[in-house]
Amino acid sequence: MSLDDWLEQRGAQRRAAGLERVLRPRGAAPDVLDLAGNDYLGLSRHAQVTEAAARAAQTWGGGAGASRLVTGTLGLHAELERALADFTGHQAALAFSTGYHANLGVVAALTDSDTLLVSDAHVHASLVDACRLARPAALAITQHNDLSAIAAALRDRHQPRALLLVESVYSVLGDAAPLAELAALAEAHDAVLVVDEAHAIGVAGKDGTGLVASLGLAGRADVVVTMTLSKSLGSQGGAVLGSSAVIEHLVNTARTFIFDTGLAPAAAGAALEALAVLRRDPGLAHRTVEHARRLADAVQVPPPAAAVLSVPMPGPAEAVEAQAHLLRQGVRVGCFRPPSVPDGQSRLRVTARADLSEADLDLACRLLGALGEFS
Ligand code: PMP
Repeated sequence: MSLDDWLEQRGAQRRAAGLERVLRPRGAAPDVLDLAGNDYLGLSRHAQVTEAAARAAQTWGGGAGASRLVTGTLGLHAELERALADFTGHQAALAFSTGYHANLGVVAALTDSDTLLVSDAHVHASLVDACRLARPAALAITQHNDLSAIAAALRDRHQPRALLLVESVYSVLGDAAPLAELAALAEAHDAVLVVDEAHAIGVAGKDGTGLVASLGLAGRADVVVTMTLSKSLGSQGGAVLGSSAVIEHLVNTARTFIFDTGLAPAAAGAALEALAVLRRDPGLAHRTVEHARRLADAVQVPPPAAAVLSVPMPGPAEAVEAQAHLLRQGVRVGCFRPPSVPDGQSRLRVTARADLSEADLDLACRLLGALGEFS
């Protein structure tokens, strides 16, 4: 079959299933109220953050110029890594060029053929891909937040090592993992707990330090955290947080770190400044959580663990229709349909931000409160 024919066939299948996606470039100035993005603290356009990005590019260049182990490690990277580790209470941090790379890199680097990977069914695509990359490690996928299934997988394994993969706040459903229980299971069964805090750090936990730190789990040798710089920190990039021994191992073995050009200076500078802004004003994290609760009340879903609210819809067509309706009324929300939903249920994904005004919240609550007409 020719490539054209194959692409046409695949496109027709997507259209028939109502699952076709298109890119919609937006302008620089916000045209509608954006409740679809992940700029939870509103820092991506904060003057100090954008100025820091520009300053970093002027000082260090448009790119890092090389991979980190060659000449691409900048003083700015070291400063960012120190600040991230300090903020989250871990011994050390390592910056990657995306959160996706951080997940791929850490999972593959911490596994071998004597390892069992136990992964929650709802983890982000980057952790799913990380498991694929980590072959020949064996893989057990457990139902979402199912502690007894996880305990059984860890207990019954024949591999000497195990890695347990979860998110602290799940990216689509917005719910939290039972982290204290998971950490206890990891300890009891001699496993490493890898927690993706992409949607938690900056918003959830004490002053936005994330759920791992707030539960006193940061600094434990068997707990490793991954994060992104692209959500609450308003920049681009990712990081792994953990013990110095883990970070040293990653520097030597994580292929997505070693063979990738160092994080762009502008991104590093922006993330570093965003972190400083948050440390000076932890109210940013508190306001985001408060706004998320108000939106959740309006749409009558349980209060979310951080900024992400999930509104179940009957099917993909209703989800698309409701999203288009909200957009016509001036509010943009996310629309998630299979295969981008972990449980096969189409849903609207609504995100709160620290910088929503009372008028924004009133509009959003009124429109979200009337979503029942699409059910
Ligand atoms: N983990 C989770 C839970 C995410 O939601 C995302 C981004 N959507 C990533 C990792 C990837 O992070 P990045 O965008 O920095 O690659």
